[in-house]
Amino acid sequence: DLWESRGAIRFDDVTFAYNDDKTILPDFSLDIPAGQTIALVGTTGAGKSTLAKLVSRFYDPTAGRVTLDGIDLRMLHPKDLRRAIVMVTQEAYLFSGTVADNIALGRPDATLDEIRAAARAVGADEFISSLPDGYGTDVNKRGGRVSAGQRQLISFARAFLADPAVLILDEATASLDIPSERLIQEALQTLLADRTAIIIAHRLSTVAIADRVLVMEQGRIIEDDTPAAL
Ligand code: ATP
Ligand code: MG
Repeated sequence: DLWESRGAIRFDDVTFAYNDDKTILPDFSLDIPAGQTIALVGTTGAGKSTLAKLVSRFYDPTAGRVTLDGIDLRMLHPKDLRRAIVMVTQEAYLFSGTVADNIALGRPDATLDEIRAAARAVGADEFISSLPDGYGTDVNKRGGRVSAGQRQLISFARAFLADPAVLILDEATASLDIPSERLIQEALQTLLADRTAIIIAHRLSTVAIADRVLVMEQGRIIEDDTPAAL
C-alpha cells in the first residue's frame, strides 16, 4: 500500500560541496514544518538552487542529512520520494506530445476528467480549450505553440495533478505580460494550498503570499521571518 508523506522537511547539520575546493552549504540546519510555504530569496550564487536540489535528491549531502517526516531521504524508496517531492523548474519543461500528455506526466493513469480538473484548478483550462485540438493539441505543432505564461500554467497543472506533499518551485525570471502574471499568481495560491512549498522567489507578489521568508547569503540563512516583518 501507499506511504503518505506529511511533508515535513529538515536539514540536520548538512554540509554540501559540488567539489573539494568549495563548500556551498556549511553546516546548514533548517526546519520546515508540514504545510508551510517558504519563499527563498538571496543574491545569485547564494545556494538557493543547491538547497532545492538537495531536497529533491538531485544531490546528497557531503555530511549531515536531509529528512522527510524524520526519514533520511536516502532511506526512502525512490518511488515514494518521487511521489512525495516534486520540483517545478524555471524552464517549465514540455516534451513533444499533447497538452494532456504533458499534464499527466508522473500520473500516466490519470483520466481526461482528472487532467481537465487539474487544468481548471490552476486556471489553464480556458486557453487549452481554445487551442486547435484542445487537450489533444501537440505542443510542438503549428498552432500548438504556447507562451511562457501558458507553459508555466501547464507545469502548474502537472504539479497539481501529481499532488505532492512537498512542492519545490524555482520561479521563472522571465517577465510575463500583466494578465498572465495575474493568472500565474492566482494559480500559484491554489497550487500551494495543503502542501509544503519551497519557492525560489523572484516576484515580490510571491514573497507576500509566503508564510516565511528565508534570505540566503553564501550558503547561510541571514534572515528568517514573515513577509510582513521583512
Ligand atoms: P541564482 O540566483 O543565480 O540561481 P543560487 O542561489 O541558486 O543562484 P546556486 O545555483 O545554488 O545559487 O549556486 C551556489 C554556488 O554553487 C555557486 O557558487 C555556484 O557557482 C556553485 N554551483 C552551482 N552548481 C554547481 C555545479 N553543478 N558544480 C559546481 N558548482 C556549482
Ligand atoms: Mg538558482
